Amino acid sequence: MEKPPLPGKRIVTSLIDREDFWNTLTRKQDAWDVVIIGGGITGAGILYQAALHGLSAVLFEQKDFAWGTSSRTTKMVHGGLRYITQGDLKLTKQSVQERDHLLRAAPGLVEQMDFLFPIRKGQLPGKLVLNSLLAIYDKLAGTTSHGYLDEKKLKLRIPALNADNLKGASYYTDAVTDDARLVLRVLHAALHQGALAGNYMQVQKLLLDQSDNVSGVQVNNITNGKSLHIRARTVVNATGAWSDSLREPVSGERTIRPLRGSHIVIPHQYAPVTDALTLFHPQDKRAVFILPWEQTTLVGTTDLDHKTSLSIEPEISQAELNYLLTLVKQQFPGSDLQKEHIISSYAGVRPVISKDRSKPPSKEKREHKVWQDKNLISVSGGKLTTFRLIALDVIGIILQNIKPEVTVDENSPPLETATTTERDLALDNPGLSRRLIGSYGNYSLQIKQNARGGELRPITTTRFCLAELRWAARQEAVVHLDDLLLRRTRLGLLIPGGAASQLDSIKTICQEELGWSDAIWKSEKQRYLHLWAKHYSLPKTHSNKVV
Ligand SMILES: Cc1cc2nc3c(=O)[nH]c(=O)nc-3n(C[C@H](O)[C@H](O)[C@H](O)COP(=O)(O)OP(=O)(O)OC[C@H]3O[C@@H](n4cnc5c(N)ncnc54)[C@H](O)[C@@H]3O)c2cc1C
Repeated sequence: MEKPPLPGKRIVTSLIDREDFWNTLTRKQDAWDVVIIGGGITGAGILYQAALHGLSAVLFEQKDFAWGTSSRTTKMVHGGLRYITQGDLKLTKQSVQERDHLLRAAPGLVEQMDFLFPIRKGQLPGKLVLNSLLAIYDKLAGTTSHGYLDEKKLKLRIPALNADNLKGASYYTDAVTDDARLVLRVLHAALHQGALAGNYMQVQKLLLDQSDNVSGVQVNNITNGKSLHIRARTVVNATGAWSDSLREPVSGERTIRPLRGSHIVIPHQYAPVTDALTLFHPQDKRAVFILPWEQTTLVGTTDLDHKTSLSIEPEISQAELNYLLTLVKQQFPGSDLQKEHIISSYAGVRPVISKDRSKPPSKEKREHKVWQDKNLISVSGGKLTTFRLIALDVIGIILQNIKPEVTVDENSPPLETATTTERDLALDNPGLSRRLIGSYGNYSLQIKQNARGGELRPITTTRFCLAELRWAARQEAVVHLDDLLLRRTRLGLLIPGGAASQLDSIKTICQEELGWSDAIWKSEKQRYLHLWAKHYSLPKTHSNKVV
């Protein structure tokens, strides 16, 4: 099917045209400066910084961009109060500084949110300790965002919150984001600097030279079954929880302890919050969150050893579901939440660096680490929030190894700031303008110009609109329906049944933009609904009663 040209500038072809990308790889004679394996936030951040530092760079992701942990977070861009309690002030300071960089660089994508810490009689830590922690937190960030709400003010703010022994709440300000869109924005920024990235391209093995040093990768194009040898001066293993499988054959050691964290997405009315709640779970006193997310409420997370194979998409277990429901019931006792009300669930795997499996998961540190083994640089751990710092650490090592004359620019931006303004978009809905600019940067203009009649209206109760799907289908390397519904947009997590009710209008867009025949649509729809029911719904049981 012939596609009408989009108004405005076209994106660098690599995200659109897989064949073009593959041909570029095939034609390239000399070695790349950097080949990056893994299309999560870590890989995307390294790709962008590599390009900004003048290195030729290409990234391969085995599934979809952000398919791994980077689309399955609690959506917080935060300093991490836990680091203060662990005495790591440096990491907290760096994290809050990164949060503030991102707030400035990507308004509409990274947004401030108030976090409330309800305090009840007899609870530890109490008001004094919490307020001192928050004072340190603010000092490290150079702000004064924290304070205290007495019981009366707190009840006005969250009327449905359990009133038992409630004394008030300490509060502070952090930020939240759409994690998968953050990855996409960083990738687009990298492409604008001349880097390349391909999804559904799996690195099957590392290539070794005569001295047994890593000299490239063998990559398999999942969509056409072809494979290529790609030569590189440096190979970066940014595969998060998967990193041992590439690193172990070279280093002889395994260092990752995969820890699963799951969330549930519930309708706002069952836990009506407009600020994030930071809570201690009644069962194990771990810090957990109930926060507003895209007109719904997000509840998470759990933290336990992930014993299932990493080749299978992770999913919430019955025990985790019960754990999260217990929290909602405890905090909102008037809520009539039943399992059938839950909109969706999702699970992600933390790449925690540890060999000691006897330690309680939540006591494990979350810092990132970089290893160098025979020309393979592996990086794992850390947080979504600190991706720029992680990337700069890696770039520093690469430059030292292959371009010692270039120094790392510590002030390098995390992504490309949009120059399009809300006035340029001239939409009736300022909230939509801000969100489109945040999520898509300057491409927000194309989304508007390309929208057909009515496509800028919000889809049911969400803030997403069909114009975004149309643009993403055409411009963002969508291979499967789940790419579009779970990561380019989050409709599959926000509308019951994986947004099955919207599939007719989405079919039209996929057929027009991706050229899908009726037969392809049918198989994509089947694949998506099966995948959603298995990994983004609830564990199958006979009872729907909340524990
Ligand atoms: C439940 C949970 C909640 C979290 N919440 C937050 C939060 O609120 N805020 C925060 O800052 N951090 C949070 N984190 C941490 C954050 O999610 C991670 O630090 C971050 O996403 C890790 O990104 P990554 O790119 O290293 O890994 P990933 O996102 O997992 O990316 C690795 C990628 O490598 C790909 N890959 C693997 N093998 C190959 C191969 N052979 N070839 C090609 N590609 C391959 C995988 O498919 C995957 O997409 C959370 C983590 C979890 C688990």
